Amino acid sequence: MSHRELKDCIFCQIAAGQRPASLICESELTLAFVDLRQYNAGHALVIPRAHLHDVRDLDDATGAALMSTVTRVARAVSTAFHCEGMSLWHSIGEAGFQEVPHLHFHIHPRLKGDHLFQLYPTSPPTPDRTTLERYAALIREKL
Ligand SMILES: [Zn+2]
Repeated sequence: MSHRELKDCIFCQIAAGQRPASLICESELTLAFVDLRQYNAGHALVIPRAHLHDVRDLDDATGAALMSTVTRVARAVSTAFHCEGMSLWHSIGEAGFQEVPHLHFHIHPRLKGDHLFQLYPTSPPTPDRTTLERYAALIREKL
């Protein structure tokens, strides 16, 4: 990763205090702040301080710290704002609609019928058990 890439990363700039953000909390390894876009009030982001692209780059300590902050902030958002449910998501790559190439989890309050997004634009296939077992084996081999 080039120096320029890091310098231009808006989340690295926020972590370094070089760009304004409405901070929720920070720890040695993580940071949580309010997203600029508030489709439903309370939309927050949680990031590692380190410039990591996505969860595949996480070490165990940073991963544990990240999930701890996600959990704390999700609890707080769900009680601070009107919230009938929540969506938590982490996008990876262009195909996954990752907009900032610095690992981040969205914590988003949901309201019934808010049309923020829904899973599966069409009904997905439900393969037989043999196929599911084969998929599990393919993934296990790579653990
Ligand atoms: Zn970054």
